[in-house]
Amino acid sequence: MRCPFCHADNDRVVDTRATEDGYVIRRKRVCGSCQRKFITLERLEEAFIRVVKRDQTREPLDREKIRRGIERACSKRPVSSQEIENLVLEIESEIYSSYLLEVSTAQIGEIVMRHLAKADDVAYIRFASVYREFDNVSDFINVIEPLRGRLP
Ligand SMILES: [Zn+2]
Repeated sequence: MRCPFCHADNDRVVDTRATEDGYVIRRKRVCGSCQRKFITLERLEEAFIRVVKRDQTREPLDREKIRRGIERACSKRPVSSQEIENLVLEIESEIYSSYLLEVSTAQIGEIVMRHLAKADDVAYIRFASVYREFDNVSDFINVIEPLRGRLP
């Protein structure tokens, strides 16, 4: 980290602490060239991703909501808790690597569907039917289209 006073890149960290909510790390540094002290703040990017809902209101990304949606879709299906946990992790990391500040519920829905399609056909169709609110047969056909190659 460059010193804000003399611009030398020669500091050492003398103190590190997290803020109460754990999302910000505060480091106290000493410049090795001019000996002045300065503080840097390190934030977790994830803390800033917000979900834009259909009514345009925003809320923090909530992995438990994603998990509940997947659990509901997988109910009575041969999908283990560990597989559900892995799906949630994959979905979460795809969201964090593809979006910086905001992600819409529609984009999350598409990501969830893509991962569910790999895990279980029935869970995928269930999730899609709730999520996309099918109102006609062609909506349904669009959703099962990606599965076509795997159906008997
Ligand atoms: Zn300095």
